[in-house]
Amino acid sequence: MKLKLYIGASSPPKTTQMKTGDWGTEWAFVDEEKCNGCGRCVSFCPEPAIEIVEKNGKKVAVVDHDYCKGCWICYTVCPQEAIRMETKEIYKI
Ligand code: SF4
Ligand code: SF4
Repeated sequence: MKLKLYIGASSPPKTTQMKTGDWGTEWAFVDEEKCNGCGRCVSFCPEPAIEIVEKNGKKVAVVDHDYCKGCWICYTVCPQEAIRMETKEIYKI
């Protein structure tokens, strides 16, 4: 068996092979009014769950819930407080 070392990295490379969107109990959502498109959330997200797109001439982050595993990292690093976490419907009491 081969083991790979990811020196200097906090997590393995992102992959689109595994959809991780059903792992967590919450998903991230972006407030497009607050988002300035800085891309910090994209850099820190451990999954390929966020991309920056252009909407109405403005760059904003968009979350793909097929890959968002609800880890709250984007929520923590966003300088604009533009991300909120919401409990998935099936976990609401
Ligand atoms: S870190 Fe916040 S402000 Fe920057 S792109 Fe992501 S959601 Fe938008
Ligand atoms: S909650 Fe985690 S997995 Fe989901 S978009 Fe934010 S950083 Fe990525």
